[in-house]
Amino acid sequence: MELIGICSICGKAGKMHGCHLCGSTVCKSCYDVSKGMCKRCARNPGKMIK
Ligand SMILES: [Zn+2]
Ligand SMILES: [Zn+2]
Repeated sequence: MELIGICSICGKAGKMHGCHLCGSTVCKSCYDVSKGMCKRCARNPGKMIK
């Protein structure tokens, strides 16, 4: 999933990825491609945000 927007982690504008866990739109540098989720979620695998 790729779209244009503003990163919800660092606030940078550009091409965004959608986190499959929390639904946030984050930039490439704030996104973990191998896990398919943002780095915020990737760092907290046990913590689910509803
Ligand atoms: Zn970012
Ligand atoms: Zn996330």
